[in-house]
Amino acid sequence: MTMNQRMLDYRYMLWSIPMKKIISLVSLIACTLVTPTASFAADEVNLYSARKEKLIKPLLDNFTKETGIKVNLVTAKAGPLLKRLETEGINTPADLFITVDAGRLHKAKVADLLQPVQSEALNKAVPKEYRDPEGYWFGLSLRARPIFYLKSQVKPEELSTYEALADDKWKDRICVRSSGNIYNQSLVASMIANIGEEKTQIWANKLIKNLSRKPKGGDRDQIKAVAAGECDLTIANTYYYGKMLHGRDESQQDAANAVAIFWPNQAGRGAHVNVSGIGVTKAAKNKANAIKLMEFLTTQKSQKWYAEVNYEYPVRTETDWSDTLVSWGKFKADSLNLSKLGELNGDAVKVVDKAGWK
Ligand code: FE
Repeated sequence: MTMNQRMLDYRYMLWSIPMKKIISLVSLIACTLVTPTASFAADEVNLYSARKEKLIKPLLDNFTKETGIKVNLVTAKAGPLLKRLETEGINTPADLFITVDAGRLHKAKVADLLQPVQSEALNKAVPKEYRDPEGYWFGLSLRARPIFYLKSQVKPEELSTYEALADDKWKDRICVRSSGNIYNQSLVASMIANIGEEKTQIWANKLIKNLSRKPKGGDRDQIKAVAAGECDLTIANTYYYGKMLHGRDESQQDAANAVAIFWPNQAGRGAHVNVSGIGVTKAAKNKANAIKLMEFLTTQKSQKWYAEVNYEYPVRTETDWSDTLVSWGKFKADSLNLSKLGELNGDAVKVVDKAGWK
């Protein structure tokens, strides 16, 4: 074989390899050269969320599209998720924990499940009353817990404050959810922070005497009971009202239309608010990605979507409200740092127990 013949043979061999094989060979070489295996692990973040998947998944998909960071999402109820974090300890795959109510976020902090985060962007986006002073958790969306009254029975002029719900004129006219629920525990904690434990105890004792039925059901059930005339007013979170107004269930729409929101304590401290929030786990292996995701969730665009999808309020003060929220009116919110709700949770539980608030 001459030199020329050998060259020709070599060329023939090259051409005879199917194109597909060449492409996969080239990409294999490129992958080994450019992408070390370790970076696959660095391009993800693991999130435990006590909120429903539909309330966050589209945002997580946007985050992945923008950053290339994959988000592995586990959703479950808040209690079991907190237990799971505790059991898994340092071996937990979770980098982030999302849950509702500052009381629960505080529980995660004191159970040593979270770590502090320092981020200019987060501190700027989230007002200081809606985040832990030490950076262990940050609010992502805001919910208010005002009074809802039966339009046919109550005039808004008759209402003023949470405290005034203890007046005798409301005897047998109030429905309220069980105090076993953290939403009411946090409301009571906010009262302890604002007016002291002694006055809150007297208030709770009297409020219980004004109930028209034993505490039962969730927030929606309280609104339904008001609409059905079982009571004239209740206290509930605003997003339930939004879901009832705009959901498919006609009976819930009718119930929601029979009631109206009253924003209490507007001449004083403001209406009680709470947050859904997020924190980086103590065991986080992808901390930088976790912080990137937190910052993404507090951008203007994310805030608008995130708040709207659940009829919640954005935590960012400059983010526009949806039409539904605008229709409920502007209100003054209690500016208490929400970490206080967690700190005073034990005292709040004592107060409601003493009052016999089931
Ligand atoms: Fe809720």
